[in-house]
Amino acid sequence: MRDYISALDLFTIGIGPSSSHTVGPMRAALLFAKALEAEGKLEPTHRVSVSLFGSLGATGPGHGTTNAIVAGLAGQTPEDCQPDKVLAAWGKAVASSSWQILNRTIFFDEGSFSFQPLIRLTKHSNAMKFKAEDSTGEVLLEQTYYSVGGGFVEADHPLAKVERIRPPFEFSNAVELLEICEREEMSIAEVAWQNEIAIHGEKELLRRLNAIWDAMQNCIEQGLVEKGVLPGYLAVTRRAADMAERLGKFDTAEVSNEWLQAYAIAVNEQNAAGMRVVTAPTNGAAGIIPAVGYYAMKFKGVASEKIARDYLLVAGAIGSLYKRNASISGAEAGCQGEVGSACSMAAAGLAAVLGATNQQIENAAEIAMEHNLGLTCDPVGGFVQMPCIERNAIAAGTAVSAVRLALLGDGSHKISLDTVIETMRQTGIDMSSKYKETSLGGLAVNVVEC
Ligand code: SF4
Repeated sequence: MRDYISALDLFTIGIGPSSSHTVGPMRAALLFAKALEAEGKLEPTHRVSVSLFGSLGATGPGHGTTNAIVAGLAGQTPEDCQPDKVLAAWGKAVASSSWQILNRTIFFDEGSFSFQPLIRLTKHSNAMKFKAEDSTGEVLLEQTYYSVGGGFVEADHPLAKVERIRPPFEFSNAVELLEICEREEMSIAEVAWQNEIAIHGEKELLRRLNAIWDAMQNCIEQGLVEKGVLPGYLAVTRRAADMAERLGKFDTAEVSNEWLQAYAIAVNEQNAAGMRVVTAPTNGAAGIIPAVGYYAMKFKGVASEKIARDYLLVAGAIGSLYKRNASISGAEAGCQGEVGSACSMAAAGLAAVLGATNQQIENAAEIAMEHNLGLTCDPVGGFVQMPCIERNAIAAGTAVSAVRLALLGDGSHKISLDTVIETMRQTGIDMSSKYKETSLGGLAVNVVEC
């Protein structure tokens, strides 16, 4: 049994535009800086260089990787950083020819970074190599990290492990989860709740779930009023605020689906602008789960407290199956791993708060993923904007449709959630690397850049 994947691991408050290209690299950079400090090598460090491989080398600058690494080496974290400062981090280092490694300031030039898009390290395509040298050029420390999706980081060397309490109800797949529910006569939300309070304690769990849901709501509400053009040469105009103004003229119930789409677009525009968002379970797919939760609250009468608890916990339990048995990384599985997983998680969460049975919840999650299978990752220009922003709006609608379909049945169905998760994994392996966050195929090469 591998480590339990908590909802609090899958939903983390961070910054845009990408969990694998921004959040993960910032964490990796901080880990490297802390390792230098811990080994007493920070003081003699004269030069630090960073190599970005594979997908990070291909689309890193457009995804904010360089900014994130400069900020992470300086000691910033995705949770506590100021998004505006991160956005300016690379430019500041270039302008001042210096950067900070924790509290130490050293020389910086653009050669401090190298981009190797055509080299894929064996463990994962989102790889980063950090090297620190002294004034004679002797290597003090060299470490390789992998940003494996959703802000999670792995390394060739052992990372400091947080000792975790084993939860009372461990499950590896949806069949085991449903068996536990039946045996214990509990809902999926109750199983997830018992597992999470065993690990985090009830008070801390509630505090963090509420903070996550608050951050999701703030992101939607801020995104619905922000206007202007998103960062990058594509000059994509924000549209959530205009949508909200137009939708405000109609009876809200008549246009609930359009509001759902506006919520998702609002989040993904905030993400593309590098603002505060919740990774859910990635940043590229960060709009779907908040949008569906907000929709449930506004149009289905679900209490905010229930969204913060049952909705997020059930979505998290389903998300753990994707992380454990397939992938939530666009670089590994294409967009089916990001948007597909988020769509399935949102469907499960919505079904749960609308009173579905455990079997109907599993069915909703399965339907939502089934119709995202094969979805490729092809962000134009390497920016998490086109097709990502609109794709979240469509996937939010798919999640709601999947729930409607599941609620019309009794939960029995031929294709299980475990089957679609395994199919997603296999499809991801078979998918050409052109369609895995490299911007070398699909829309990324067919949209004329101007
Ligand atoms: S296309 Fe999908 S997987 Fe790729 S960056 Fe956009 S949202 Fe993420």
